[in-house]
Amino acid sequence: MNPLSESGIRISGDVISSTDGRRRVEAISPIDGGVIGEVLQGTSADAAQAVDVAQDKLGAWSQTPVDERVRVLRAIAGALREEAQADDETSWAWLLSTETGKRLAEAQGEITFSAVYFDAFADLLEKQRDEHFDVIPGITHRVQPQPIGVFAVITPWNFPVSIPARKIAAALAAGCTVVFRAAALAALSSLRLSALLDRFVPAGVVNTVLGSPADVVDTWLARVDGVSFTGSTRVGRLLNEQIAPRFLPAVMELGGNASFVVLDDADVGSAVETLMIAKFRNNGQSCIGANNILIPRALAGDFRDALVEAASQLVIGDPREAATSLGPLAPAGDPSRVAALVDDAVAGGGEALLPQIEVPGQGHYASPQFVMGAPASSELVADEVFGPAAGIVVYDDLDEALTLQRGTGYGLASYVCTNDAARADAVAARFRAGIIGINTATPNYPGAPFGGLGLSGVGYEGGRQGLEAHQHFRTIATRSD
Ligand code: NAD
Repeated sequence: MNPLSESGIRISGDVISSTDGRRRVEAISPIDGGVIGEVLQGTSADAAQAVDVAQDKLGAWSQTPVDERVRVLRAIAGALREEAQADDETSWAWLLSTETGKRLAEAQGEITFSAVYFDAFADLLEKQRDEHFDVIPGITHRVQPQPIGVFAVITPWNFPVSIPARKIAAALAAGCTVVFRAAALAALSSLRLSALLDRFVPAGVVNTVLGSPADVVDTWLARVDGVSFTGSTRVGRLLNEQIAPRFLPAVMELGGNASFVVLDDADVGSAVETLMIAKFRNNGQSCIGANNILIPRALAGDFRDALVEAASQLVIGDPREAATSLGPLAPAGDPSRVAALVDDAVAGGGEALLPQIEVPGQGHYASPQFVMGAPASSELVADEVFGPAAGIVVYDDLDEALTLQRGTGYGLASYVCTNDAARADAVAARFRAGIIGINTATPNYPGAPFGGLGLSGVGYEGGRQGLEAHQHFRTIATRSD
């Protein structure tokens, strides 16, 4: 791939490429450590200009008729779907795979999924109606959704296309304008989305400025009307503290620590198959990835054998090759941290089930690992791993497993595997989680809410709730007698 040179500043549809007082940041591929490009970073003045423009365009966009907003959202969805078809070296998917290390097929899937968000929010907007109440004699009440205003969209590196897509789609559907800052470590892939949006959205409705948090985020948080953030619990907490004095509405999608609970009637083969997806999706760097695995003692031996067998089939290597099933961690990921969490769980009495792999070349690869009998208190079990490793805790009593699931402080996703639908529902009802997979590793659906509890944040992104997160509701009472 020829090195790319991109500007991280797109304001009012214009790409700003003057280097005047601006710095450049290199993009490095985790596959081989090679430089794949550089991105011009914005300044606080750029950030301020982006908010000016977004405020200026708010009136027109918020009053754009629903039909027209729906048309724009669907046009974006169509263009994304078209982009997702290509997997040659010039394609967006290739860039996404090269920049983040995710498998090429997953990169294509991420772009397709981004399209689904734009369609889903078009559908939700079409369905949304003002409410009317004629209950109180002589007075009619109407409830009207209104856009909150200018939203700051701040995103992480693990899904640098689909996370911005789901945030921006919801904001646009609601009639909000957007200032968008993507993570520097996967910026080239995110900037393709900004460029695509500029083809369909009126100039100034979405403005992108990359740059340091101090320059960009601080400038925005002092002026925007709402915040949509996805990232770590640590940074989410910092932002929460910053916006509290302004009472800004915020969607905070933070870290996760999903439990993968197998019940004693489960089919072991199918549970392992589900776990392989839930754990190794995006090379283990997914907020809803299976993070701790809870196995009943009666199935422990069979589960262990089936898991070792399945993991021995993993093909680790260049994520752009079709045969590869596990790529490197993204540049922001930390293979040495994953190894340290595994070592610590082994030191605490666990057993590493998989041989240490020879990692290819110069890449940023982490060895996949499962630690059987990892202590429940080890960081491998109790905290977010964000890599291709997990601790397995063997339980004697389901209550023990559910206590662990509920006790991590997080509350984003969890999974249960069983052949008994009633038991599945009973366990799901006791999970502390916003997204639950029963015998499936893919519980996320754009038409349904996506959000967590506790350390996983507040608010929702998908579904009607995701649209409403960008709206405030006006109740108008009219005397009718
Ligand atoms: P991060 O919190 O380090 O960074 C997120 C974004 O915030 C990036 O754009 C980053 O540049 C910016 N940022 C960093 N420091 C900042 C500061 N002081 N002020 C303002 N902005 C700042 O997270 P990450 O490492 O990019 O992403 C991984 C984390 O994101 C994981 O914890 C993962 O679980 C979480 N995540 C959550 C979801 C979800 O939907 N709940 C989805 C994906 C990822």
